[in-house]
Amino acid sequence: MKLDFSGERVMAVVAHPDDAELLCAGTLARARSEGAAIAICVLCRGEKGQPAKPIRNLGAVRRREMRAAAAVLGAELFTGRWGDGELMDADAPRVFLADVFRRFRPSLVLAHAPNDYHPDHRAVAALVDVATWFSASRGRVTRHPVLPAPAAIWHMDTIEMHGFEPGFYVDVSAWLSVKERMLSCHRSQLSRAGDSEFSPLRPLMRAQAGMRGAQAGVAAAEAFRIHASFKRCRAW
Ligand SMILES: [Zn+2]
Repeated sequence: MKLDFSGERVMAVVAHPDDAELLCAGTLARARSEGAAIAICVLCRGEKGQPAKPIRNLGAVRRREMRAAAAVLGAELFTGRWGDGELMDADAPRVFLADVFRRFRPSLVLAHAPNDYHPDHRAVAALVDVATWFSASRGRVTRHPVLPAPAAIWHMDTIEMHGFEPGFYVDVSAWLSVKERMLSCHRSQLSRAGDSEFSPLRPLMRAQAGMRGAQAGVAAAEAFRIHASFKRCRAW
């Protein structure tokens, strides 16, 4: 049995500029190669991810880094302007995200798991649940037209796999190099590899893709769990 992304419209919604690289970029790359339209929506600016030697205008630097990473993938990029650590389930991000969904019209949304470690990640899980629903609600008016149905949601693995029981795995062995190239765009964060309070991103990404791959009998995989709820389930 094989997943087939052809004809789908897949959007990853993440909190920070490098989260997609760690958790779902291989799946996005595979979806694109199978004919899906793909997009990434990053809600926070990443302006507090400072290395020991601070970078001036870090928010602008990270914006350039995420643009370069999205270009590697060939993904459309949507960006919010919330500060790191300031994202929460509130009306403004709900309306913003519902309108992003109405612009891109995803059939599938990849989002952080509700139990991930970072409060911004947990906020994304709640916001995606609400905003996909609102995107298909005529009573919620935004700048773009209402969608016929809310997108399906797959929750992404947690960072370092803590407390995440995978529902299924996507084989990304052939797209690991795309994840690597995207991660290489995030120079400001790679420069934090020696900082004592920070986990170096490259080994973190490789270890997680390798472990999920080992669990599924392939070289590299990304793990997801379907958000099973009213009107969200699909059959294939
Ligand atoms: Zn993050």
